[in-house]
Amino acid sequence: MKKLAIIVPCYNEEAVLQQSYLRTKAALAGLDYLIEFIYINDGSFDRTRELLDEIAAGDAQVKVIHFSRNFGHQAAVTAGINHCDADLAVIIDADMQDPPELIPDMLALQQAESAHVIYCVRKSRAGERRFKRLTSKLFYRVLNFMSDVNFPLDTGDFRLIDRKVMHEFDRFKERGKYVRGLISWVGFKQVPFYYTREARIGGRTKYSFRKMWKFAGTAMLYFSNKPLRLATSLGFIAVFVGVILALWFTLGKIYGFNHANSGWTSIMTTVIFFGGVQLLTVGVLGQYVGILFDELKARPEYIIDEKRNFRDSK
Ligand code: UDP
Ligand code: MG
Repeated sequence: MKKLAIIVPCYNEEAVLQQSYLRTKAALAGLDYLIEFIYINDGSFDRTRELLDEIAAGDAQVKVIHFSRNFGHQAAVTAGINHCDADLAVIIDADMQDPPELIPDMLALQQAESAHVIYCVRKSRAGERRFKRLTSKLFYRVLNFMSDVNFPLDTGDFRLIDRKVMHEFDRFKERGKYVRGLISWVGFKQVPFYYTREARIGGRTKYSFRKMWKFAGTAMLYFSNKPLRLATSLGFIAVFVGVILALWFTLGKIYGFNHANSGWTSIMTTVIFFGGVQLLTVGVLGQYVGILFDELKARPEYIIDEKRNFRDSK
């Protein structure tokens, strides 16, 4: 029988864990697969740890990885994939925003299409603030404009992947992982699956503005050097404007069609504008240098404190 793993990153999810586990288990009960859960406790400081240990104690099919601290959603998903030995895996959030009842349909689609990835596309999102919906829509579109890869729009980490994809994913060496982007980058046959994203069944979002910002930064900088190229283009435009202005003022002085020394405002505007352009381009450069620095240090992406119900090497 084929094995299906359910990978669930959890950060302070005490409000939803029990319900989430039971509901997922019920949704998968009729399937002809060996089911196993991989829960990653991403350094929670509520009762997530105890709850997960309890679930694992009562169900040998539940594997748990406790991180030594909070390493972030993407690191947690990465650890889940790295520790998975199943034939197929579904990545799903603990908060049930992505309904586990869809998994049987995803599996059926995967079989029918002989696909390696089934990625779930949000037709609409319920119970989320306008700000989140707007920034998220904007994010996927800007990312596509910036990046050299064409990513499917409005797609989260909720997806089904097979062994082949997991095997390739395990080979990625980069520390800043934008998981959904990397999976899409891998290639093979990838098929969309449309669904409605629901509201959280409990608790609050664990993605603070700071985390969202960092996430967007990783996605953008790791998948594109267009910001650098944009900086160069900006430089060219600035030089062009500068030359035109210089000609205009010099010729104006000679032929008397303008009086260059009257313009305090124009000088200030130019100084501030070019100051801004310079800071911006140096900033973009700094971002990439920062990434190089982080990657060069080659620290581990996550540190594991403890594992439960893992039998052999994985
Ligand atoms: N999560 C995590 N580490 C973090 C932040 C979030 O493992 O630092 C998990 C969280 O427990 C949830 C999933 O990632 O299972 C998605 O987070 P959340 O639902 O808060 O994000 P949203 O759906 O609001 O974008
Ligand atoms: Mg959520």
